Amino acid sequence: MSHNKICSVKDCDDAAVKTVSRDKFSVVNMELKGGAGRKIYLCKKHYKEYKKARKKIDRLERWRWM
Ligand SMILES: [Zn+2]
Repeated sequence: MSHNKICSVKDCDDAAVKTVSRDKFSVVNMELKGGAGRKIYLCKKHYKEYKKARKKIDRLERWRWM
């Protein structure tokens, strides 16, 4: 894995530890840097936030269908 990728979240310059697809990431309310491609690079901190946000959304969607 390349170790010189930087987090794609706006105003964050931390090294990326995870990659998520833009489709998946679009549900999370986080602003990205201009020029972010189809792959979103996330640092440790933002990956955690992304996971937390996903969990919330997944739960809401499940409830909607119950
Ligand atoms: Zn970050």
